Amino acid sequence: MPGSDPYHPTESYYECVSCNERTVSTEHLGACPSCGEAVRNLAVARE
Ligand SMILES: [Zn+2]
Repeated sequence: MPGSDPYHPTESYYECVSCNERTVSTEHLGACPSCGEAVRNLAVARE
């Protein structure tokens, strides 16, 4: 399937403002899964 990349769905990177843990999620993430603090949405890294 040209143009399709099954290994890269629409992902967003989130970084916790408290513990700096980074989480990749394909859904909106409202809180850090580790400590429950707020997370910020980072620019999607492309490799
Ligand atoms: Zn955290």
